[in-house]
Amino acid sequence: MCCVRGWLGVAEIPTPLMAPRPVTTVPDFSALVSHWLRIDGVGRVMALSPALAAGDAGVCLEVGEPFARSLTPASQLLWATHHWPALKLRGSLLEAVLDMVTTADGKAGNPADTALVGSSRRWPVSSSWQREQSDGSASFLGMLTMGMERRRLLEELQRTRNSLNAMPGALLQIEARPDATLHFPYASNSLLDLLGITPAQAERAPQRLLDTLSVESREHLSAVVADADSAGADRWLAVLTPRRQPKRRLELVARRSLPDMTWHGVLTDVSRREQLQMDLRLQAETDPLTSLPNRSALMSLLRQRLDGQQHFAVLFMDCDRFKQVNDSLGHDAGDKLLRLMARRLRHGLRPADDLVTLASAANLTAPLHVAARLGGDEFVVVADDLADVEALAAMADRLVHLMARPYRVHGMELVASVSVGVVLAQSGDTAEQVLRNADTAMYEAKRRNRGHWVLFEPDMHVRAVAALAMESDLRTGLRAQQLRAVFQPIIEIASGRVVGMEALARWHHPHQGEVSPAVFIPVAESSGLIAELGEAVLTSACQQFAAWREQGLPVPARLSVNLSRAQLTNPDLPERIHKLLESLGLPCGVLQLEITESLAMADDRVDQVLAALRGLGVQLALDDFGTGHSSLASLQQLPVQQVKIDRAFVRDIETSVYHRALVEAVVKVARALKLEVVAEGVETIAQARLLAELGCPRAQGWLYARAMEADAIPAFLQGKVARVLEEQPPGAAALVLANRGHQVIVTDAHGLTVHVNAAFTQNTGYTLTDIRGRKPGSVLQGTGTDPRAVRKLSDAVRTGAGCMGVEILNYRKDGTTFHSLVDIEPVHDDSGAIVQFVSVQTEISDFKRIQQELLDLRLRVGEARAGLSGAVEAI
Ligand code: C2E
Ligand code: CA
Ligand code: CA
Repeated sequence: MCCVRGWLGVAEIPTPLMAPRPVTTVPDFSALVSHWLRIDGVGRVMALSPALAAGDAGVCLEVGEPFARSLTPASQLLWATHHWPALKLRGSLLEAVLDMVTTADGKAGNPADTALVGSSRRWPVSSSWQREQSDGSASFLGMLTMGMERRRLLEELQRTRNSLNAMPGALLQIEARPDATLHFPYASNSLLDLLGITPAQAERAPQRLLDTLSVESREHLSAVVADADSAGADRWLAVLTPRRQPKRRLELVARRSLPDMTWHGVLTDVSRREQLQMDLRLQAETDPLTSLPNRSALMSLLRQRLDGQQHFAVLFMDCDRFKQVNDSLGHDAGDKLLRLMARRLRHGLRPADDLVTLASAANLTAPLHVAARLGGDEFVVVADDLADVEALAAMADRLVHLMARPYRVHGMELVASVSVGVVLAQSGDTAEQVLRNADTAMYEAKRRNRGHWVLFEPDMHVRAVAALAMESDLRTGLRAQQLRAVFQPIIEIASGRVVGMEALARWHHPHQGEVSPAVFIPVAESSGLIAELGEAVLTSACQQFAAWREQGLPVPARLSVNLSRAQLTNPDLPERIHKLLESLGLPCGVLQLEITESLAMADDRVDQVLAALRGLGVQLALDDFGTGHSSLASLQQLPVQQVKIDRAFVRDIETSVYHRALVEAVVKVARALKLEVVAEGVETIAQARLLAELGCPRAQGWLYARAMEADAIPAFLQGKVARVLEEQPPGAAALVLANRGHQVIVTDAHGLTVHVNAAFTQNTGYTLTDIRGRKPGSVLQGTGTDPRAVRKLSDAVRTGAGCMGVEILNYRKDGTTFHSLVDIEPVHDDSGAIVQFVSVQTEISDFKRIQQELLDLRLRVGEARAGLSGAVEAI
C-alpha cells in the first residue's frame, strides 16, 4: 500500500483489524467496532453485537440462523466456496468483501452505500474473521466494516493505478535510501516497456530496473539524485543509456514530491526525438523537388564557411532556356528537367557532395563540393578546394559542359545550357554578399554569352545597377516615345534592287544618347517591357511604311519586323496585327515577322499564334540562322518562308571552309523547301560575290546600307544614292561605296553628307547620324589641318570640278589624327547636272610616317656625313 502513498496524494488508508485474541466470553467490542458477530463451527450465528442485534444496519441476522442466510445469493456462493473453507482451514480471514441483504428501510448508514437487490437492498461489507477456541469447539469472530467507503478507496486506488499504467508517459518513482541505494516504489508499464522488462519481472526484482542501464548511467543517476538531495534541489535531469543499446538516449526528468520527499520522474526516449529533429531539419533544408539543399541550407553553409575563414568558391548557375521549356512543354516537363539537372549536378560533383554530408557535417573542414537549389532554375555549387583561378576555371568549364549535354524529357531531347557566375569568397564578406556577387556575375555571363561562365569583378555591381537604372529609363522612354524604328534595306545581290527592309529599334536616351538595341533589347526582355516595345516598333514601322506607299515611293514588297517571345505567346497578336494592317490599308503579305529558332521551339501557344499569322497571310522569317542550336531539319518543321543566315557565318565565309559549307548547305536546303534566303551582315564586295556564287540571292548589310533614319529612306529608294556595286557599267553613275581600304563619303550637290561607308565609320568613329546633312570637313578638319588643303577640297565641290590626291590631315572622333589622300568626283544625272559628289579617302598615315622617318634618316646621315668630313678635315 505504501507504494502509492504520496504518489497519489491520497490519505493513508486505515489498516482495519487487529487480531482478536481468543475469548471464552463475549468481549465488549463496542468501543472498537460496532458491527461484530460470532458464528459456530458450522456457520450459525452465536452472538451479535448490540448494534447488529438492534437491526442497526437493517441486516437480518438472528442468533441460531446460518450466517450465510444474511448474504446475497452471489455472496452466499462466495462464502460457501471460498471464505468459509479458507477460514476453517487457516483460522483467520482478512478483508473478505461480502454483500449482506438489508431491508430497504434499514438504517444501514448512507443509503447511497446500499443497492437494491430484488425487493431488498444489499449492504457491502468488508469482513475479517478470527477463529476462537472455547471448550474445544471452534467458533469464529467476525468484524464487519461499513464496506462501501473502503471499497471505494480500493477501487479508486486500482483505477488510478490502471490509468497511471495506461498513460503513455514512462513514470518512475525514485527513493534514495540513507545508504545511497536507489529504490523504485513505482514504475509505470510504459517505463518498463521502454527499458525492456515486464511488470512481473519488475515486481519480482525491483532492482532489475537499474540493471537495464549501462554502468555509467547507473553511476550517473545515483550521483545526480545524491547531488539534488544534498543541494535541496526540487528537480533534475539525467540522460541515460540502456546497457544493451548504447546508441539510445533516455532522458529522465524528475521533480520532488513534497509529502514524502521522493522523486517522480518521466523517462523519454530522446533518441527518437533527436532523430525527428534531424529529420525535420533535413526537411526544412531540402528542396522537395530535387532533394538538393535549399536556400536556407546554403546560407548556413556559406556562413559557416565564412566564420571558419575558409577559402571557397561559389558558382551560381541559371538555366538559359528554362522559362521556354516551362512555357512550351508545361510545368511537368519543367520539373522533370530541374530534377534531371539536379541529378546531373550531384553526380557530376564528387561523391561526398550530397545533403547528408552537408547536414551532418557541423564542422566542415574536409574539402567538399555541394550543390544546392536556390529556387526556380537557379542552382549553386559551393566548392572548397579551388585554390587558384586555374582550378576554378577548370571547374566552371566542367560545369558548363556537364550541364550543356542534352536531357531527355517526355521523349524529347532538350538542351538546357547554363550561364555561370563565379566568385571567390573573400574574408569579411557576408553570405548574402557572396551570393549576390555570384548572381551578378551570372547575369554578366548571360549578357555576354549564354552558356558560359564569368568570374565576378567588383565593377559588375556598378553595371548591374546601371542595368536596373536602364530598365527604369526604358520604361519612361517608352511612354515618352523615345523609341523609334530605323530601316535597313535588303538587297537582291545580282541587281542591287531593294527587295525588302528590316525595321530595327532605336532608342535615344535623354542623357546617354543613342543606346544600342544589343543593350536595351535584353533589358526589355528581362524586365517584361519587350512586349510593349515590340508593339510600339511594329506599329510605328508599319505606319511609316504605309506613309511611304501613299507618297508613291518605290517601297519594296516586304517590311520585316523582329518579334520577341513575349509577343509570340500572346494569343491576341494575330488579331491586333490584322487590325493594324487593315487600318493602314496594308495587305498582310507586306509584313514579314522575324523570329529566332529558339522562339519557335515546340510550344502549343506559339504554334497557334504562328498558324494564325500564316492564316492572315503574314510572312515569317527565321532570323539569326546558324546561331544557337539551329538545325537544317528545323527549316522544314517551322512555318517560315524565309531564312536569314546569321552575320557570324557571313563574316567568316571567306576564311572558313566550314562556314562556307554551311551557307551552301542552307541555301540548298532552303531552295529545296522553296524558302527565300537572305545573308545578314554583308560588309564587303568579296562577301557579296561569294554569297552569290554559293547561290544566296539576297543580302543585308553595311556594304549596301546601314540601318537608316526614316527620313533618309526616300532618297535611298529613289536611287539618289548609288548602291549597285558589283560591276560598273561604262558611264553609269554607280560607284563602289564600300571598299575596305577606302573611306567613302557621298554628299549632295551642295557638299552636304548623305552617306558614309563602313570603312569611314570604322576609321573615324563618326556614323552617318553624326555627319548627315553636314559638310564632311566640319567633323574631319581641325586646328592642325593645312588651310590650303581645306580650300582645295571646298573648291572641288564649289566649282563642281572635283579633285585628285589632295593630301589632308583629318581628325577622328576621339581626337587622334590621320593623313589621307582625297579624291572627289562629281556624279551627273542624265541631263548632265551634278546630283552628288563621291569623296574617296585613302589613308596615308603609314606612308607619311615612313616619309617622315626617311626624312629624319636623311637628315641624320647628312649630319653624320658632315661630322665625318669635319673629322677627316681635322686629320
Ligand atoms: P537582328 O535582327 O539580327 O538585326 C540585324 C542587326 O545586325 C542589326 O543590329 C543591324 O544593325 C546589324 N547589321 C546589319 N548589317 C550589318 C553589317 O553589315 N555588319 C554588322 N556588324 N552589323 C550589321 P541592331 O540594329 O543593333 O539590332 C541588334 C538586334 O536587336 C537585332 O538583331 C534584333 O535581334 C534586336 N532588335 C532590334 N530591333 C528590334 C525590335 O524592334 N524588336 C525586337 N524584338 N528585337 C529587335
Ligand atoms: Ca532581325
Ligand atoms: Ca538577324
